[in-house]
Amino acid sequence: MEFSSKDKAAILVEALPYIQKFFGKTIVIKYGGNAMVNNELKAKVMEDIALMKYVGIRPVVVHGGGPDITGFLQKIGKKSEFVSGLRVTDEETVQIAEMVLVGKVNTEIVSLLNHRGVKAVGLSGKDAELIRAKKKLAEVYEGETVRMVDIGFVGEVEKINVDILNDLLDQDYIPVIAPIGVGANNESYNINADYVAAEVAGALHAEKLLLLTDIEGIYKDYHDKTTFVSTLTQDEAKEMIKDGTIAGGMIPKVEACLCSLEAGAGKTHIIDGRLDHSLILEVFTPQGIGTEVVR
Ligand code: ADP
Ligand code: MG
Repeated sequence: MEFSSKDKAAILVEALPYIQKFFGKTIVIKYGGNAMVNNELKAKVMEDIALMKYVGIRPVVVHGGGPDITGFLQKIGKKSEFVSGLRVTDEETVQIAEMVLVGKVNTEIVSLLNHRGVKAVGLSGKDAELIRAKKKLAEVYEGETVRMVDIGFVGEVEKINVDILNDLLDQDYIPVIAPIGVGANNESYNINADYVAAEVAGALHAEKLLLLTDIEGIYKDYHDKTTFVSTLTQDEAKEMIKDGTIAGGMIPKVEACLCSLEAGAGKTHIIDGRLDHSLILEVFTPQGIGTEVVR
């Protein structure tokens, strides 16, 4: 589709109130799903983040990397076992997760952003003890009872060092965070990036938390695409987790939205990373896209 100059000007002007609204505000982006795998989508996400930075937003990126970890484990002939959707993580597996997330995925995002002319800095939870973590037990439902199972070095966030993030943001850097936490005995933990993004958004009292994923948003009935919901309240979201409407990988996302809202973040959005430029569509247009979870 070709736009006339008049249309182009109108589109830019339509963004003005959003640029004003978000100037100087912090937006946390959880980068995951297909948008991390497909090179063209990847480039568009980087453009969106650079654009946000150039119009005065303070973006913070938290990335996942499950497929990369699985790929590497397969290469060395190590099979992954899952309990309640969480990877059983022995010492060798957490070392590999750290190596892949920090050494490969993180540095790649940082260099792609820097290539767009912004200043990105990569961090893992170990840098300045950004993410203090402890062991997370998996919950296994057996009828009415819940059994807690030790699955190794899978962690949950205990504390975020906001000072290091604010220092970097004040100096115009974009922090890019790998979801590896550090425990009391210096051990590494692999943490679901949705939860890390939520804790970071809460601790920074971010204006928005944007979770990029591979689906349009939340469905009331996952098998019926006409049941898409564009806005959910906290209570509605909790109910949908309880009754099983929200399941699988969507659970940590919705829990992430709830947790960051409770910690003081503004709005939270689950958006489709398969769509070109979904980030700027969400932030700078009146329609918005995806599902928002609001107070
Ligand atoms: P990511 O890689 O972005 O973390 P996940 O695969 O972990 O994505 O989580 C998103 C998935 O959650 C969707 O692809 C879908 O299969 C699943 N899901 C479960 N319940 C729902 C629901 N009610 N609405 C939308 N997606 C759902
Ligand atoms: Mg996931």
